Amino acid sequence: DAAREALGRLVRDVPDYPEPGVVFKDITPLLADHDGLAAVVAGLAHAGRDADGRPVVDVVVGMEARGFILGAPVALALGAGFVPVRKAGKLPRETHAVSYDLEYGSATLEMHTDGVRAGHRVLLVDDVLATGGTARATVDLVERCGAEVVGVAVLMDLAFLPWREALGEVAVTTLMSVG
Ligand code: IMP
Repeated sequence: DAAREALGRLVRDVPDYPEPGVVFKDITPLLADHDGLAAVVAGLAHAGRDADGRPVVDVVVGMEARGFILGAPVALALGAGFVPVRKAGKLPRETHAVSYDLEYGSATLEMHTDGVRAGHRVLLVDDVLATGGTARATVDLVERCGAEVVGVAVLMDLAFLPWREALGEVAVTTLMSVG
């Protein structure tokens, strides 16, 4: 379909970035292309609709930084609001925080404690699902607020990494599998 075609044509592989041995998926050419951007936003928003096309989410949560770019237009398409999950220390009011392991060291993500509310149905949006650590931590942040994660929607998943294990039973929509 249009989203897959756009991803195949407009995402660039950048070898050895940000470190040797890693092939980075650069989505900036896709973001710069109106038709490509529209196609992938529509594809992500599909994850927040029922079989009849009706929106089933109250809030879209996007992870810093590319989840902001993609999540806000997905929220508008679904008639939902947008809430950011940020790296530690960036949000100005009271937050929930979740730390998770990286290959070297750890990372902490935060969300305002009133970002989502008990009973809200939430769709998570990001660009790439790799180990699943970022998405797992975000699921935990949303659930700590008493809200329900409807699913995670990403442009691409790296199929050779264990994101499925990290996310357990959480529904995942990925527009393209890589590797
Ligand atoms: P994970 O936590 O290991 O699943 O990594 C996913 C996070 O890292 C997402 O927020 C992505 O934006 C970012 N990421 C990992 N690999 C890539 C890549 O190849 N291209 C762009 N972003 C990436």
